[in-house]
Amino acid sequence: MLALAGYPLGLEFRFFDANQVSPARSLGEFINASFDDRSALEQFAKGVDLVTTEFENINTEALAVVEQHVRFYPGSNAVAMSQDRLTEKNFFNGLGIKTAPFVAVSQESDLTTASERLGFPFILKTRRLGYDGKGQLIVRSSEELNAAWTKLGPTDLIAEGFVRFSREVSIIAVRSETGAFAFYPLCENTHVNGVLSKTVVNPEIVASPKQKEAEALAQLAMEKLGYVGVLVIELFDTQDGLVVNEMAPRVHNSGHWSIEGAVSSQFENHLRAVCGLPLGSTKTYGYCGMLNILHTRPNVQELLKIEGLKLHWYAKEPRPGRKLGHVTFVASDVEQLQAQFTRAQALLS
Ligand code: AMP
Repeated sequence: MLALAGYPLGLEFRFFDANQVSPARSLGEFINASFDDRSALEQFAKGVDLVTTEFENINTEALAVVEQHVRFYPGSNAVAMSQDRLTEKNFFNGLGIKTAPFVAVSQESDLTTASERLGFPFILKTRRLGYDGKGQLIVRSSEELNAAWTKLGPTDLIAEGFVRFSREVSIIAVRSETGAFAFYPLCENTHVNGVLSKTVVNPEIVASPKQKEAEALAQLAMEKLGYVGVLVIELFDTQDGLVVNEMAPRVHNSGHWSIEGAVSSQFENHLRAVCGLPLGSTKTYGYCGMLNILHTRPNVQELLKIEGLKLHWYAKEPRPGRKLGHVTFVASDVEQLQAQFTRAQALLS
């Protein structure tokens, strides 16, 4: 999706993917190698103007190899930080930004300390390599502590207090190489089993002080990191204000609506930012939303009959829990948006 947004800007692309089957394969020069393969990384980095990523779980050694040859955005510091939930939370708290209360867990006895400090229920997560609700579980009572450790340990874990939120939102922020900022309207996200299912740009939240609150915390984090590109921060909306859940140092699923819904999409603006070009407008064209296509191929014939719907298919093999594509909607009013959602959801369920 980055490349599809970049070709109209006159950019050229070379891709590096550790997976053989990759949506990027047909979009430009493609290198398929492990992130441990130093010579493949060098071959990749040599001759390009800059490197960016849309995947954060790359080992820091690989990034160091790339950075020996060429600029890497958003910066290896931001990518490394986002790989560890503990470091990330300490970073936000250090800036005075709220997160869930947490306790580092490296041995089973730490779980007792965590339950005393956080109460029940709490959420136990792996510190690294968790995504889409993977590598985490809810611990509801002291009887479940041992089973939780057996399931996720022995490895570095983090216990998080259970945040009572009214909704989950995300702020998509962008900072260019020249230091300019742009922000998209807050999106409201619905997760099913920890996986993002639906995103709506909710005009009611955008008009509230929460928009500015989210922009201010994203700006602070990006300035501190010297960040260049799109950064997405997932937030819990609570009675005590916004609470950071986690950050993604890349374009994000909750910003996919912007492909059709905003004047410049998150993908285009990420590229503008890393290339030092003026940032594009983040204004929306109307009432926007997105639904993920999960697990199985839908009835495309029926889906495409929905007015205002746009299909984005990733050319991935169907698999339980896998994101195979998404559909976006742009409507002229809330009622039309809701009608589009209802029809599409029936076809995707
Ligand atoms: P994560 O992988 O950390 O984004 O978690 C996946 C989903 O689990 C989130 O989108 C929330 O719906 C839920 N979740 C994660 N952490 C917490 C928490 N500390 N309190 C309440 N719900 C949470």
